[in-house]
Amino acid sequence: MLKVALITGASRGIGAATVLKLASKGYKVAINFKSNTSAASSVLEKIRKSGGDGALFQADISDEKAVIELFSQVQDELGAVSHLVNNVGVLQAQMRVEQMNAERINAILMQNVTPYFICAREAIKQFRAHHDTTKCAIVNVSSAASRLGGANEYVDYAASKGAIDSFTTGLSLELADSGIRVNCVRPGCIYTDIHADGGEPQRVDRLASLLPLKRGGSSEEVANAIAWLLSDEASYVTGSFIDLAGGK
Ligand code: NAP
Repeated sequence: MLKVALITGASRGIGAATVLKLASKGYKVAINFKSNTSAASSVLEKIRKSGGDGALFQADISDEKAVIELFSQVQDELGAVSHLVNNVGVLQAQMRVEQMNAERINAILMQNVTPYFICAREAIKQFRAHHDTTKCAIVNVSSAASRLGGANEYVDYAASKGAIDSFTTGLSLELADSGIRVNCVRPGCIYTDIHADGGEPQRVDRLASLLPLKRGGSSEEVANAIAWLLSDEASYVTGSFIDLAGGK
């Protein structure tokens, strides 16, 4: 079966590492990004240099129409999507709940929760119409924050990831009879650009010594788990969570 993986938010960080890993395993990769064309292009260049196949797809996944168009373009250019990695997650400046307004909270939910539903919906349509669904899979990228709560930093973000955990459980049960597997990874402190968006670029270094493994993690370490969950090696795994959080 032709394996076409769509990875949302794949120009940088965990998404980019997942693209490289999946391309090395023979997937055609659809590299979605929002605006950083040069970062996305360098990911595509890397996979092509190592013999991989894929293409770039600019789309703001918080826009439902753009997501529908994205899936249609991927099908036209690479073939129907058989694997989805719901990866986009954003956070805003660190603050306590008592300082948060509805605009900020709603912006987080609209980026981190609703698009996972919409992307899954569009993926499932293509799985059912074009593939043996027992070979299709979804991985949702949540966060250790869903368990830990994000206190004093971003409880709104943590709550959005709690929603992704529930979404994973519910969707995995809805799809189990068609053999489509739905799983989740929960990274902890991973060296990526996301911490700068929260106003603390060195956040991982600050927290590393507090972790049982005494270090932050890499995007590649998360990508390895995502690739395994998508693969046939995980054929009896659905509704499951892998914590990649250095033991916390
Ligand atoms: P990152 O390095 O900040 O990368 C963000 C990626 O998402 C970029 O490719 C960006 O595209 C894309 N993006 C942002 N908004 C988008 C939108 N509306 N539509 C399409 N693409 C969009 O992020 P990361 O740290 O790798 O995080 C990936 C996932 O892991 C997130 O769900 C995050 O919550 C989760 N996570 C991360 C950590 C961590 O420590 N890093 C820990 C726990 C969970 P552009 O380049 O075009 O801006």
